[in-house]
Amino acid sequence: MPNCPVELMKTLHLNKGRESSLLRRHPWVFSGAIERVSGNPGSGETVRVVDAGGKLLGLAAYSPSSQIRARMWTFGTEQAIDSGFFHDRLQMAVARRQSMLNDPQRTGCRVVYGESDDLPGLIVDRYGDFLVCQFLFAGVEKWKAEIVEHLRELVPCKGIYERSEAAVRAREGLEPAQGLLWGELPPELVEINEQGRLYVLSIAHGHKTGFYLDQYDNRERVRQLSQGRSVLNCFCYTGGFGIAALQGGASHVENIDSSGPSLELAQENFRRNGFTPSQFTLTNANVFEILREFKQAQRHFDLIVLDPPKFAETKAQFKRAARAYKDVALQAAALLGPGGLLVTFSCSGAIDLPLFQKITADAVLDAGRQGQIQYYLHQAADHPVGLPFPESLYLKGLVCRLD
Ligand code: SAH
Repeated sequence: MPNCPVELMKTLHLNKGRESSLLRRHPWVFSGAIERVSGNPGSGETVRVVDAGGKLLGLAAYSPSSQIRARMWTFGTEQAIDSGFFHDRLQMAVARRQSMLNDPQRTGCRVVYGESDDLPGLIVDRYGDFLVCQFLFAGVEKWKAEIVEHLRELVPCKGIYERSEAAVRAREGLEPAQGLLWGELPPELVEINEQGRLYVLSIAHGHKTGFYLDQYDNRERVRQLSQGRSVLNCFCYTGGFGIAALQGGASHVENIDSSGPSLELAQENFRRNGFTPSQFTLTNANVFEILREFKQAQRHFDLIVLDPPKFAETKAQFKRAARAYKDVALQAAALLGPGGLLVTFSCSGAIDLPLFQKITADAVLDAGRQGQIQYYLHQAADHPVGLPFPESLYLKGLVCRLD
């Protein structure tokens, strides 16, 4: 290949038969699929990926210290991986969400969702005038400056901030990274509008990039189901579901979380939305314990939201996680009267929907109750699932009506 840039001659040679997932456009190349690496590519560098017979499968970014040794940029073509390539991919991601980004009632929105937007390892969320990015893979890390440059142009904003998750980056051999990438530093609290609900969040200190944007559709669902109901919002964080419930006409919302700073922000959020202290309570407690106390005290609710943190980070932890999901659902079921709604979630990728449904069914049964599933819930449309990449479906929820 006399005209090929030296960089592109660095090549991953796959073992025989290991090309099949790439032919289906799954973007990951695991270390075990690689027979040899030629040309000594560096971290994040573009490499050719070829099958055992030397046939080109596509171009990828190399990550020498990760189990996922490479992530595909392109399939089957020799299209250059350059600044223009990132411009086009980012433009596509923005175009897919144009109606959401133009909605003045939705000023918090994910703009780029990694592999689902053909940009492995890149997350970009918009909160009002600010963008927050996560660079979670050596490939996007290498192109950070170009990505920031294009984002400025494609999504008008005042500043771009980085909140790359330390643990994920460590697996990639990357240092933790947080701070301003371009423009103005966001203020400590940024406000978003979500269908009339106002939420403040901390870009520098909040969970994830600041807020649970993935629950947007489900907050809308809870709003629709809340009219006249007493609501218990467990693992409330900054009040996301609680405010949606009051907006939908809930008679009262009791919110539980074990994080003081999250509850302080929740307090501010209820205040901003004009709700009075008679409409809600905020309690700093362990959900597992307080549900038992409520049972002893014979408390009852009409709708209970369970949105716990990720109990299983890996497949290995899934048994312990399954027990935790079951315990919390069992305790909650006991507090619901006839016709009560249990809205229960799992964001653990290691627990799939059939398993989560079984855990919930067992919990309701063990609570001595019967019920039906009224709605299956998932992550919002700005967190789409790439068809070749089912791993990106991580958020599962059920609305169960108990008899
Ligand atoms: N429902 C929220 C997101 C929940 S994130 C939203 O839609 O915005 C999970 C929350 O659970 C975090 O705020 C964390 O502080 C809290 N948490 C974790 N373990 C807990 C426990 N055992 N008891 C109470 N809260 C807990």
